[in-house]
Amino acid sequence: MDKIIAGHALTPGKTVKDHIHVHGTELHVPHVLLCGMEDGPTALISAGIHNAEYVGIQAAIELSNELDVQELRGNVIILPLANRSGFENRTMSMVWEDGKNLNRVFPGDAEGSTAEKLAHTLFDVFIRNVDYYIDLHSGDGFEELIPYAYYLGDAPAAGKAREMIECVNTKYFVRSKCRTGGAYNLASVHGIPSVLIERGQLSLFSREEIEADKADVRNILRRIGILPGDYTTYEKTELAEFSDDAPCTGCWYPEKQVGDWFRKGEKLGEIRDYFGRSLFTAFAPCDGVLIHQCASLNIIEKGPMVTYGIRQNDSE
Ligand SMILES: [Zn+2]
Repeated sequence: MDKIIAGHALTPGKTVKDHIHVHGTELHVPHVLLCGMEDGPTALISAGIHNAEYVGIQAAIELSNELDVQELRGNVIILPLANRSGFENRTMSMVWEDGKNLNRVFPGDAEGSTAEKLAHTLFDVFIRNVDYYIDLHSGDGFEELIPYAYYLGDAPAAGKAREMIECVNTKYFVRSKCRTGGAYNLASVHGIPSVLIERGQLSLFSREEIEADKADVRNILRRIGILPGDYTTYEKTELAEFSDDAPCTGCWYPEKQVGDWFRKGEKLGEIRDYFGRSLFTAFAPCDGVLIHQCASLNIIEKGPMVTYGIRQNDSE
């Protein structure tokens, strides 16, 4: 009996391009099923959970046309644009209908708001039925970041996720402790080896970044045996991640660039009011590297301001 996903039997050699309707909403989410000729694991690749993170979306669209079912051992499922209504209404990564951040509401709720229904469907139909999961993200229109990857450290399949991370070509990775809200976090808690790759920023996308995302995915697929050939591993620095949210709304003036290392006590940025008066100065609470920061002039109370990493061996 072939495995069934989204109502389609994963019959060897089959390619499916279809949409799944999210019950109780107007949403029809595109998905591609690539069924290999030989038996093997099933990997899920998702993009566009944040709809204005374009590098991963384009990489996923291209992979869905470039991966050859004749070559696959096992199956690859691709969700190129999870938050479709956000994309089609050009939100900054919120679900259009309810203004919610899809990657904060997993596992969702079949009776909840649109984002919650969407998360429920994505988890129930796709995520919980796969053996491996790769989620592609970038910096949104207001976010600068350097490329890095996450996995959940304290999870049943953390060892396998760590092997996937080794195949990602970035300088840094984060062993996360966050078990709730996000798609890859939930998958990890459910024992599915999962990684999240961040590459690209400010809702921009380049050929180089798209190719780098595709190369990472292919390299992971070789590591887990779905694609033939040798994989490459990349030396990386492990970081513990810390985020400081903005204490107030106003205008944001960052002092550092992503990728900069800083010392404890250095100024990271300042929030001022609309008359140019200082409201708050952000200082580094420790030595670290800036991996992600707000890059828009506006900053929002309790919203992202700076995210930094501490070398894992230093953070004990
Ligand atoms: Zn994202």
